[in-house]
This record gives sequence, structure tokens and C-alpha cells, in this order.
Amino acid sequence: MALIVQKYGGTSVGDVDRIKNVAQRIQKTRAEGHRLVVVVSARSGVTNELIARAKAINDHPDTREMDMLLAIGEQETIALTAMALHALNIPAVSYTGAQAGIFTDQVFTKAKIKKINPQPILKDLQDGKVVIVAGFQGINEEGQITTLGRGGSDLTAIALAAACRADKCEIYTDVDGVYTADPRVVKNAKKIDEISYDEMLELASLGSKVMQSRSVEFAKQYGVVFEVRSSFNHNPGTIVKEEVAYMEKVVVRGVALDKDQAKVVISSLPDKPATAATIFNALANASINVDMIVQTVGHTGSVDLTFTVQRDDAANAVKVLPAILAQIGGGELKAFDNIAKLSVVGVGMRTHAGVAATLFTALGNAGINIQLIATSEIKITVAVDRARAEEAQRAAHDAFALGT
Ligand code: ADP
Ligand code: ASP
Ligand code: MG
Repeated sequence: MALIVQKYGGTSVGDVDRIKNVAQRIQKTRAEGHRLVVVVSARSGVTNELIARAKAINDHPDTREMDMLLAIGEQETIALTAMALHALNIPAVSYTGAQAGIFTDQVFTKAKIKKINPQPILKDLQDGKVVIVAGFQGINEEGQITTLGRGGSDLTAIALAAACRADKCEIYTDVDGVYTADPRVVKNAKKIDEISYDEMLELASLGSKVMQSRSVEFAKQYGVVFEVRSSFNHNPGTIVKEEVAYMEKVVVRGVALDKDQAKVVISSLPDKPATAATIFNALANASINVDMIVQTVGHTGSVDLTFTVQRDDAANAVKVLPAILAQIGGGELKAFDNIAKLSVVGVGMRTHAGVAATLFTALGNAGINIQLIATSEIKITVAVDRARAEEAQRAAHDAFALGT
């Protein structure tokens, strides 16, 4: 008799019939003799809808009130899931994040989990109940509701698996597992049987939204092995764990695309110490995360600085920077809202040469211009025009023969 944590994402609980389907899957697992903690997301689209409503009322909604609002999406689905189980005569109880003992820091809308007190859950399990927990939410020390960042139900599931010392953690979604690329964009993308935390983490943080990147980070830190699989069939999914056996032979594991990027170009900056420090400190103070950075020195002795930011942050960067450029004494500012970031990821790159050349050749042959390049030990990222991003993703996927 194992303890299993199952997480069902937004599409999997998207309507009444799907919630009933989830209840049946829980019933089956229980009939096999297992105890269950189930984490559910809000119905798909609900969190986006709530955000849109908040912004229609106030451009900059207060973050405490935002979390108060966003937490209701998951509160609906936990109660409905518990009711669906009751209809099958299965004892079940639903808990909000706070009731489940999930304590976070104070940072509304992207709170970090500080500790979990799983005692109430463990007690219910002992009493034979299925425990249903609201994903994506917790409570801070002052008793305020917090949320864990978009896609945060994945984190709730993995953190509960660690805190309850579960034997298994299963992330149920609307695709069969983690693929070599988004299967909705790249038709011949192939399901990956096993992937390492490091590769999954890169793919997730570079735009593969199948897993929230912080949840993968947490899983790596606490050694939580988990499986990503579909709630619509019984096919085996993708196991995510520390080491993967056939790693050596695989150079590129997958391709990720992030279409929500913007590029900021500051040309004709004075070439003197602390210029970059002044600019990037100002951006950091405005909570703008900068990603890829390229600095070039022109022959006139001035410097051109180009960097990418999240698309949502571009307008803010354009607002903050003119005052800073005036202070530095020069620099012309331009922002481009039409950027996508394409990345190839694989731990095999550590020991193989020529990966960058293969990627650049594939994009060159497709006539796609590379605007910026960044590399690390296990990834190569390029910024390209958003209009050609999906084509670029397919070209990269083919170049490394990742398809079926
Ligand atoms: P959930 O609501 O279950 O959390 P998400 O929508 O957050 O589901 O994530 C699943 C989606 O992630 C899939 O529908 C798929 O389009 C997308 N996706 C992006 N990259 C990948 C990938 N490499 N493998 C699988 N799915 C991916
Ligand atoms: N409902 C939240 C979101 O849409 C959390 C989740 O689905 O994981 O981001
Ligand atoms: Mg998700």
C-alpha cells in the first residue's frame, strides 16, 4: 500500500465530466490499495479570466487582493472533486492551501513555500480519506492567502509529496508526458521516457510550460521523482529524476520556445566603467528581469547594449531607462516587442562539440535571422523574430533528429 500524490491540471478538471473522470481515476488507484493526496488546479482558463477582470478594474491591482482573488479558482475545483468522490461513496475531504498547512513567505503572487505541516493530511489518510488539496496557494505567517506563481499547482504537488514522504508523485495533464518539443507546435515531437531534473529545469524555465520551473527545482532539491502523464488515457508518461541511463548518447534532449520576449537596444552609450552597472541596477530596482545580454563596442568608441526582457516588462523598461541614460550622459533607446527565444537543451552537450553549429546552420538554411545568442553548459538559446519562431522550433527539432 503506497502513498501517492496525484496532481490534476486545469484541463483535466475543466468541466463537470472531467471532474467525474478524475474521481474515477482516483477510485481506481484506491481500489488498487493505495492512499491518495490529490492536488487540483483551477478549471483551465479560470485563473486567466480572474486576472483579466482584476486588470479591467485596476491597472495595477494590489497583490494581496490579487492572491485573495486568484485562490478562488482552486477552491471551486477541490470542493467539486470531493463531491464527485462522495458520489462514488469514497470518503474525501477538501483543503485550501492554508488548511493543508502550506506556509509561504510574504511575496504575494509568487510566494515561496517555507514549510509544510502535513499532520492534518496524514491524520485524514490514516482515517481512510482521500485528501484533496488546492494547488497554487498557501498562507503566510500573518495568515494572509498567498499564491505560488503561474503553474504553481505543480509545486504544491511536489512539495506535498516531499512533506508526506509519498512513494509516488504523478502530474496528470493534457498530453502524454514531456515531449522533445511542444507537441501542439511540433507535430512529430516524441515523448521522452525519462529526463533528468537538470534538463527538465532548463526546458521548463526556457518556455516548455508542461511543468512549472520552480516545481522542478524543488523536486531536484528534495529528490522527489515524479511522472508526467495524461489524465485522458493510461499510457505511461515521462519519469523525471536525477540521472537518466542513456544520457551519454543523447546530445539534445528537447527544444523549448518562449514567445513572450522583447528586446531592448541601447546604442551609442559612453564606453566607461559602471555604465552597465548603472543600467542593470536601475532595471533590477524596477523588478525587471534581464535575460540575454550582448555588448558591442563600435568603431566610434561608443558601446551598444542589447538585452531581452519578458514582454510584460518591456513597457516598464522603456519608462525607467530614459532618466538613467540622461544620468549616464548618452545612449539611444529602442525596444522591440516581437521577439521569441528558442533553446535546445541536453546534458549531452557537455561532452559533444558542434551543437551550436548545427543549430545555426539549420536556422540559416531556413532563412531565419539570429538576433542574440546565449549558451550554458547544457543549453543554447537564440533570440529570433516571433513571427518565425514556430518555424525555427521545427527546424531545430529536425536538425537534431528529435522527431518520431
Ligand atoms: P496543466 O493545466 O495540466 O498544468 P499546462 O497547460 O500547464 O497543463 O501544460 C501542458 C501543456 O504544455 C501541453 O498542453 C503542451 O501544449 C505544453 N507543452 C509545452 N512544451 C511541452 C513539452 N516539451 N512537452 C509536453 N507539453 C509541452
Ligand atoms: N491555476 C493556476 C494557474 O493557472 C495554477 C496552476 O494551474 O497550476 O497558473
Ligand atoms: Mg501547468
